[in-house]
Amino acid sequence: SPSLMDPSVSPQNSILPSRGWDDISVYNAKKKQHAWFQAPDGNWELARIISVTGDESLISFAEGKVCKVPSDVLLPANPEILDGVADLMQLSYLSEPSVLYNLQYRYDRDMIYSKAGPVLVAINPFKNIPLYGRDYIDGYKRKKIGHPHVYAIADTAIREMIRDEVNQAIVISGESGAGKTETAKIAMQYLATVRGGSGIEYEILKTNPILEGFGNAKTSRNDNSSRFGKLIDIHFSENGKISGASIQTFLLEKSRVVQCGEGERSYHSFYQLCAGAPPSLREKINLKNAHEYKYLQQSNCYTIPGVNDAEQFRIAMDALDVVHVSKENQENVCEMLAAVLWLGNVTFSLVDDENHVEPVVDEALQTVAKLLGCRIEQLQLALSSREMKVRGENFIKKLTLAQAIDARDALAKSIYSSLFDWLVEQINKSLSTGKHMTGRSISILDIYGFESFDVNSIEQFCINYANERLQQHFNRHLFKLQQEEYIQDGINWAKVDFEDNQACLNLFEQKPLGLLSLLDEETTFPKATDLSLANKLKQHLSSNPCFRGERGKAFTVHHYAGEVKYDTTGFLEKNRDLLRIDSIQLLSSCTSELPQIFASNMLSLQSESPSIGSVKKAGGVDSQKLSVMSKFKGQLFQLIQCLGNTRSHFIRCIKPNNLHSPGIYDQQLVLQQLKCCGVLEVVRISRSGFPTRMTHQKFARRYGFLLLDNVASQDPLSVSVAILNQFGILPEMFQVGYTKLFFRTGQIGKLEDTRNRT
Ligand code: ATP
Ligand code: MG
Repeated sequence: SPSLMDPSVSPQNSILPSRGWDDISVYNAKKKQHAWFQAPDGNWELARIISVTGDESLISFAEGKVCKVPSDVLLPANPEILDGVADLMQLSYLSEPSVLYNLQYRYDRDMIYSKAGPVLVAINPFKNIPLYGRDYIDGYKRKKIGHPHVYAIADTAIREMIRDEVNQAIVISGESGAGKTETAKIAMQYLATVRGGSGIEYEILKTNPILEGFGNAKTSRNDNSSRFGKLIDIHFSENGKISGASIQTFLLEKSRVVQCGEGERSYHSFYQLCAGAPPSLREKINLKNAHEYKYLQQSNCYTIPGVNDAEQFRIAMDALDVVHVSKENQENVCEMLAAVLWLGNVTFSLVDDENHVEPVVDEALQTVAKLLGCRIEQLQLALSSREMKVRGENFIKKLTLAQAIDARDALAKSIYSSLFDWLVEQINKSLSTGKHMTGRSISILDIYGFESFDVNSIEQFCINYANERLQQHFNRHLFKLQQEEYIQDGINWAKVDFEDNQACLNLFEQKPLGLLSLLDEETTFPKATDLSLANKLKQHLSSNPCFRGERGKAFTVHHYAGEVKYDTTGFLEKNRDLLRIDSIQLLSSCTSELPQIFASNMLSLQSESPSIGSVKKAGGVDSQKLSVMSKFKGQLFQLIQCLGNTRSHFIRCIKPNNLHSPGIYDQQLVLQQLKCCGVLEVVRISRSGFPTRMTHQKFARRYGFLLLDNVASQDPLSVSVAILNQFGILPEMFQVGYTKLFFRTGQIGKLEDTRNRT
């Protein structure tokens, strides 16, 4: 191919952070070359240059159309021999269109996995592709297959954990519906198959149907959307076999229990129960059809195409068996689900002319009381009044209709989230065998990606903050450490700038005037409103370049992935997430086992946590316990710290279209995601550097025997240099550091081939 030979377009000499990254000024449009042209709709089209006159080029497209364009809008296309390379770093010309085209080329051929330097890119196929199962697992284990794959990542993690005695993490990110949860399961499957043996791996895999049943729901973007973040640590014993695991979850979306949008569903568990509970259980817990529960009615969606909820119910219950949740406890779990559903059907009637209400004593209220194991009067009281302490005196405040509905929904939400936490606790008890604890682990993180909707609330605020932190971990891990290593080893390497997001993190975290501190401070003021919060943020942060005040109750944050406008409506209420003392008191007085456990867990949570406020309520418990935000921040810091102590492997999941359909590749959508998760940046930086490195000693040991002539000095450096000479490795392709040799991509391959043949 002529363009490869042309020194003026040498791929190595020009890496600039422009749209095309390769400095396009060195690209002279030449006759017969292929080039990328951006159509007005933003999509890139491949064209052939017919002739060049002055600053203009005449180009033709595949379908025969010809047009004249300014030469400088064209970007060079890669020669055909590079079509569909497995690693984007191998591309001669690195540009948005060439990356997009390369991924699409592979995707069209069901090669959904590609590498972007050290990162695995996975494009959701939205159909079953034959890349999984025993034979493939075996192929990757024996290193017979070299194509990029989740299996290859999992395999590397195992090898490096054992070889280097360093804990590993597989960090999976991507937007909703991109395939994170499926990818996590594929990785778990590999670990279980390759490193199982004790039987515990079977239990670990069975946690998936449980957590998905209780924590996933149908949303507009994904029929099986995880509404919580998850970190699973898989533990290994001395002989390198799986010995146990532990799971941590983040931020379950509670509001979904009582409310969800048109066409979406609440948590799968409710529909599974309604569809799959056997007759005896139905009778015992007075279960009706899903259509008869208000919480499930509002979104007008009960089923998911291709999903059999009744069967899923049995699968979930079997899985509970496997993780040692007794039949009796399984029934208790079902009771709690039914209690939540019936709570939604509780109605209220006015009792005075001041708008105060009381719950109507009907089937709903009676069933809730029965399922929780409390007296009807207690439940009535909890749903219609609030105990207050004013100037040292206790008194009962009656609730209006809106307040009573709030109290009812809050009870439903806290029962459900307590149930979820309790299940995770049971799973952890079952998986922590404590046997052969070596401290070695591989962690898999499946956590929601960056979100930006028309209206963004505190949920997006938390999620995007988390992603900002994770992005920094990604940056630090891949770029900073790499650069520092070059500098430490004294090699001559031009520093490539990468976008650091420290400024945005400071906006969130600085004290006392950061988004988080200000939010928590405002949360403790009884008189604060969402508007006063917005004003406070604007007052203190407007000079910050990552922040912009908006009209009314809104503000905009400039995230690494783009700008997001947040609406503070409901921020304070959701941040307080009051575990109402009334709910706790009610639950602790219940005779059923689970409500009591829930109440004591809530109480211990309150007493453990450093309170953000000190408004004492009846019973001597702080009503303003730890805010949602500070609890999440605590978890997040712990997470980042854990990841910091591991070697991380990154998988970026990409959603190729919003229709959930196979075979459709929406360029703009893919490009947006590649930018958001830093893939474009990582290719640019990895390619510009010397990603392969080896100590002089290791290099000399590994390849020294290939030397044809004797070397005067036996010191590793001299041996290494002799090897490099013998193999004709060009000077621009490597650098000699104080302790290591650094190579550009692809250089070691030649040596390895020879070595393997010898
Ligand atoms: P969320 O953030 O909403 O939880 P997610 O990134 O976890 O989304 P998944 O639930 O893993 O997304 O994937 C969405 C759907 O895409 C799956 O239910 C499945 O139908 C399909 N899918 C994802 N990965 C694959 C794959 N490797 N092979 C086949 N189908 C897949
Ligand atoms: Mg998911």
